[in-house]
Amino acid sequence: MTADELLPVATALDLALDGIGPLSPAELSLEAAYGCAAAEDVVADRFLPSFSSSGMDGFAVRANDVALASPESPVELRITGRVAMGKAPDLAVGSGEAVRIATGAPVPAGSDGVVPIELCEVFADARVLVRQGVPPGRYLRPAGQDVRPGEVLVREGRRLLGPELGLLALAGRDRVRVRPRPRVAILSTGDELVPPGAMAGFGQVHDANGPTLFGAAKEAGAEPRLAGIVPDDADAFRDALGRAATDTDVLLSSGGVSAGELDVVKRTFEGRGEVAFHRVAMQPGMPQAFGRIDGIPFFGLPGNPVSVFVSFEVFVRPAILRMLGRRRIVRPAIRARVAGELRGQPEKTVFARVRAARNESGWTATSTGGPQSNLLATLSQANGLAVIPPGVERLGHGEVCRVMLFRDPEETT
Ligand code: AMP
Ligand code: MG
Repeated sequence: MTADELLPVATALDLALDGIGPLSPAELSLEAAYGCAAAEDVVADRFLPSFSSSGMDGFAVRANDVALASPESPVELRITGRVAMGKAPDLAVGSGEAVRIATGAPVPAGSDGVVPIELCEVFADARVLVRQGVPPGRYLRPAGQDVRPGEVLVREGRRLLGPELGLLALAGRDRVRVRPRPRVAILSTGDELVPPGAMAGFGQVHDANGPTLFGAAKEAGAEPRLAGIVPDDADAFRDALGRAATDTDVLLSSGGVSAGELDVVKRTFEGRGEVAFHRVAMQPGMPQAFGRIDGIPFFGLPGNPVSVFVSFEVFVRPAILRMLGRRRIVRPAIRARVAGELRGQPEKTVFARVRAARNESGWTATSTGGPQSNLLATLSQANGLAVIPPGVERLGHGEVCRVMLFRDPEETT
């Protein structure tokens, strides 16, 4: 393949993912582990619940005593005390006796059923009338009903969300081995760039790619940090990359990868081996640079803001998900009918910004604007990228396309 040849997107993705695998496991606190994939099967070492408790507020009784109770012939029991929450019971239930108990309190010895308070009439002289019998075991929550020792609490690869963190905590854990979040350092290149909030003189541009990549990386589950704006100067770029490479799992830069004489990434790395430059058969996002710097995966993304986002979606996000130990590394896709029309290209895969919406008859996808890769507002109005294969130059109204959703399409604003 010559340097000028266009690389199919799938081939470029293989190159981008080359050598990228899950990060080494780390043992993190439950809070820090939120959203990360478990790095091993977590096995229970105890019963859950760990003790038999009451499932209702009421009285712990002997089920036999109240078996025949009914509204017409209630059974009278003697109240002998109360079970405290969070303590082993210091009394037992004998025949003819009832012990006050709250939901979650341990069931005292001798009792094999709980009568809910709603079925009782309580008198000041420590008597209770039970108006309905309960079968043995009723309203009890037996030890081990949920989990038994040796059972897997959380499978390897499972992403830890609220329910998993809660279950681990219930099982006595406060730390868990997970695939940690990749730390992503983000550099923006260009003599014309100024930071957000700074005065932009004529011809200057606020750095949009830094925040765009920050948000995209955060959403992917990474831990991004903005490593600053670098001028179009090879030494400055090399220095900045070197500084950004400490405590970092992924290096990202934007701009400077096309063929212009100012293109700093290209000038810095072309022909040196660590970084390869590609022309990918896609629009937007044709020029890309992938490689390793000090062993750290490096993605040199193009400069235009929409190209940056699309390149991230197509190449960087799958890499991050792979580092996170996720098995599914592609966006969910839907099939939608085009509303209006979408334009493709003879030789490139086009990622067209669309707004996907669902109605009774399925999904529709509407273009949010022109294909130019500097039009960032058209991306902000979109929730998906329609993937139009090479050779499909036009999709007319009602024709079907595949859409990668990058935000919840049910979000209404
Ligand atoms: P480049 O790939 O460096 O030639 O940049 C292509 C286009 O993207 C130029 O119009 C740049 O001004 C613009 N651009 C590059 N980096 C950024 C950035 N961080 N924020 C906004 N626009 C950018
Ligand atoms: Mg530039």
